[in-house]
Amino acid sequence: MYQALYRKWRPLCFADVIGQQHITDTLRAQLSTGRLSHAYLFTGTRGTGKTTCAKILARAVNCEHPVNGDPCNECPSCRGILDGSVLDVVEIDAASNNGVDNVREIRDEVRYAPSSVRKKVFIIDEVHMLSAGAFNALLKTLEEPPEHVMFILATTEIHKVPATILSRCQRFDFRRITPDAIAKRLMEIAAQEQIALTENGAKLIARLSDGAMRDALSMLDRTAGCEVVDDEAVSKSLGILGSTDTLALMEAVKTADLAAAIAEIGRAYEAGRDLSGVIDQMLGLIRDMLLIKTAHGDVSAMISPAYTAEQLKRLGEGLAPATLIAYSRILQDAAAHIKSASNRRVEAELCMIRLCTMGAQAYDSLSGRVEALEEKIKNGIPVVQKVVSAAASDNDGPPPPGDEDAPPWLQEEGQPAANDASASAEPQRADWPGWPQVLEQASGSINMGALTCLQISSRAELDNGQVLVFCEDDVTAGLAGAHPTIDRLSEIASAVAGHAVRLKVFGPDQQPQRHKQAVSDEILEKAKEFDIQVTEF
Ligand SMILES: [Zn+2]
Repeated sequence: MYQALYRKWRPLCFADVIGQQHITDTLRAQLSTGRLSHAYLFTGTRGTGKTTCAKILARAVNCEHPVNGDPCNECPSCRGILDGSVLDVVEIDAASNNGVDNVREIRDEVRYAPSSVRKKVFIIDEVHMLSAGAFNALLKTLEEPPEHVMFILATTEIHKVPATILSRCQRFDFRRITPDAIAKRLMEIAAQEQIALTENGAKLIARLSDGAMRDALSMLDRTAGCEVVDDEAVSKSLGILGSTDTLALMEAVKTADLAAAIAEIGRAYEAGRDLSGVIDQMLGLIRDMLLIKTAHGDVSAMISPAYTAEQLKRLGEGLAPATLIAYSRILQDAAAHIKSASNRRVEAELCMIRLCTMGAQAYDSLSGRVEALEEKIKNGIPVVQKVVSAAASDNDGPPPPGDEDAPPWLQEEGQPAANDASASAEPQRADWPGWPQVLEQASGSINMGALTCLQISSRAELDNGQVLVFCEDDVTAGLAGAHPTIDRLSEIASAVAGHAVRLKVFGPDQQPQRHKQAVSDEILEKAKEFDIQVTEF
């Protein structure tokens, strides 16, 4: 029968436990001198060796021939505990036995002396899961335990354990195991198991395991089928992005190439990769880029083995640390939401849209525009261009034949300009309320990337039998205007409008001029608020 690596290689004595020497040394000293506590509390994150050490301790206190505080694992007591035939060592999972009755059973058993070994040992795993009543019942036992009993409580969430329990236990804090220690152990085990694990592969698993040896060994298990387990093989079998793909995705974000970023997410999705892992990897990459950018001295030992310092330097060129921090905020936000998102792909795509449009948005915010204005004033560049505007009444006329693809305001460019006052007084035409409905119904029948972009950055007007779709960026306009997306959208829009409509898509450069006028007015107004002297040309 196949045995999982983490079971097969679970340490049998304290000497084999890695990364927790501060604990194993103390326990061995206590065992050698016989100064043992009657209750221990092991706390720390998952996979750090709490249960393993509890089991070793249970054998060590009962071993007939202990060696330097370690159990011999050969005497009848050790063997009996290992194969489960000694009933005096009891393991209880508090996650499923958390009631008062479960603890009362323990209290009843505590009264009787052990039948085959020296000490009865109760290992209570996930002890924080006990109910309040169960904790109270346990407390009574911990207050006056018989000489022949030892309790070992283990928890990942120490803050949920009542102070009254804590004060009656000797507490040991298990640390996350360092990536180096995990990688070293993985190499040793791989050699014994005849797995061709490379150093880079071991380092990547170690980093991904986040200090948990058990997780690291489970990952090694999943990659063991590969001929050579290097970092690419690890990425592939664990369903995470390879380092090249992560770099490509970051490059797309850096250059605000939304289409490339969305395509990269699409590829990861179709390859069956975990998109929340992709977000995590982006975060890791940005952390490494920040480290390379801001740290003095050699940090190559602190960055992920998946990248070289050269790659990170090149990728970080032209990106300010503040920008990278802003990127990481967006990614952290996505990481928090993506696990519970009903559609992870959409969530990941939205995240890419936010990343790619971040630079533009920062500039687009009013303060950004005022800053730009100040910059222009300093350099003596005219801030307001003469705007050619059309009278409001002319806008509603049908477009001239032969030029149907141009939006109405562009078709009227040749006409004499009306005075500025009437143009700026013209209200923006109302959004067509049917548009959100169209997008909702389009879900599943048009490209997901196009739909996401449209949901984020488009609005529409219904005008004279045409639906005019205004997109805030060229990518959205390009996606929406492509066949068959535009045909599908036209059909749905016709159904929603109740009559046949034609759909027209406009990018940001095709904004109506009345719109530009409104923006410059807004800037002028804001400039006055900030006491900036503006000269109109
Ligand atoms: Zn023994």
